[in-house]
Amino acid sequence: MICHQLVKYGEPLVRVDRATPKPVGEEVLLRVTASGICHSDLHLCAGYFDLGDGKRLDLSPGRRLPLTLGHEIAGEVEALGSRAQGVVCGARRIVYPWIGCRACQYCINGDEHLCSQPLALGVVRDGGFADYVIVPHSRYLFDCGDIEDSLACTYACSGLTAYSALMKIRDKAERHALLVIGAGGVGGAAISLARTLIDTKLIVADISSTHRRAALNAGADAAVDPRDDDVTKKIRKFTGGEVAAIVDFVGSEESAGFAVNVLSQGGVLVVVGLFGGILKLRLPLLPLKQLTVRGSYVGSLEEMASLIALVRTGNVTPIPLIARGLDDVQVALDDLAGGQEVGRIVLKPHG
Ligand SMILES: [Zn+2]
Ligand SMILES: [Zn+2]
Repeated sequence: MICHQLVKYGEPLVRVDRATPKPVGEEVLLRVTASGICHSDLHLCAGYFDLGDGKRLDLSPGRRLPLTLGHEIAGEVEALGSRAQGVVCGARRIVYPWIGCRACQYCINGDEHLCSQPLALGVVRDGGFADYVIVPHSRYLFDCGDIEDSLACTYACSGLTAYSALMKIRDKAERHALLVIGAGGVGGAAISLARTLIDTKLIVADISSTHRRAALNAGADAAVDPRDDDVTKKIRKFTGGEVAAIVDFVGSEESAGFAVNVLSQGGVLVVVGLFGGILKLRLPLLPLKQLTVRGSYVGSLEEMASLIALVRTGNVTPIPLIARGLDDVQVALDDLAGGQEVGRIVLKPHG
């Protein structure tokens, strides 16, 4: 098999040719047909998240290199371990990659994405920047029906992340309006999903005019530049005065600071983006304005099942995709770091 591995933090991935693993026990071997590239792959390559004040969250503990990245994986079942059940060879499936230790209370409760000893594919265990991947159990495999693999794979991270964040704010957004900050990869997916999930006015804030245009094309009712002097006035005019539901898909000091500033009485901010920095919050405003600030990271196995059921209805507008070959992975990561791609880059290991 061919895989592109992270061998050293901060350095380009290395193409490795090695023996294709054989699935054992409950494991399933997938022949990878599509593998999405995510913004968090850039953080995983760098080996840290920016915590602000010059501090970093070091990602190297709990992760052994070399590691094959890639956590948005679709493929065809190639082989089964002796105890694997629930799927047959040749079946097309997408992978839920947010696998936990399967022993702690979170995992037992079905919240493997909250596990503190995660074994996520493409994050801790070998993932999908390869032509084959081992999945520990068939319960992490989902049937996407007629949805094409390159689109289906994106539901495992960008779609699921957007879905889980929107579900955390849906009630509030339906009673008021929804402000989405950042219309790049995950933000873009959220706009498509929000149009199906939430019956409300949807306004998008993004500093890029390309992203604002894409947001309007994807169904946003309005798009603003958060750097405009009168941006708060523009947003309030559009929402009828209140800004009570915000999802921040950037997660920078600027974006979250902007969100807290425009948030109205009783407002909820969900931070999803991992750009990094520190949120400065004037504490008396938290009780006086009764604000809620919460985070959201990927989603649960149950949310994945609900999301797949939703997209299989055919009512979710597909996000734009850019197809690349497996060997283009490093070029694609560099393009993503440049920030101007509109659409999810998806690798096609088998052409
Ligand atoms: Zn991701
Ligand atoms: Zn666990």
